[in-house]
Amino acid sequence: MADCIFCAICAGKAEASVVIDDDYLAFMDIAPFATGHTLIIPRRHVQRVAELTSDERAGLFEVGNRIGTALREAGLAEDVHFVLNDGDKASQTVYHVHLHVVPRRSKDLRRLLPRVLTAFAPPLWRRRRTQLDAVAERIRAKLDG
Ligand SMILES: [Zn+2]
Repeated sequence: MADCIFCAICAGKAEASVVIDDDYLAFMDIAPFATGHTLIIPRRHVQRVAELTSDERAGLFEVGNRIGTALREAGLAEDVHFVLNDGDKASQTVYHVHLHVVPRRSKDLRRLLPRVLTAFAPPLWRRRRTQLDAVAERIRAKLDG
């Protein structure tokens, strides 16, 4: 779909630090809540969970589970949040359905809180491409093993 940044990433027309490139794309959030924060999207452009087929819904969560496991094995997370903002009243800001996998650690709230309070100012939290690529590589290494 034109004007969709996630479709542009799928088409290789926009930059991303990709972890999985298959039926679903998994890549690093450009303004992560924590190191390892990954987004998973279906290649097909739909805005809402209800527009996915039930196989696609299952597939999306299956990839999310693989990423969550790899984040733990890579030492980037103790636990993870699976977050899906479905619609603008639910804080969806990119209208191509995406599942967030956000790493959590014990006692990380003090570090996360400023990030949560400024969730709508992503430029503040942007990471350099080289940093994101390095994290993507750490996660990929655990997926292949
Ligand atoms: Zn799209």
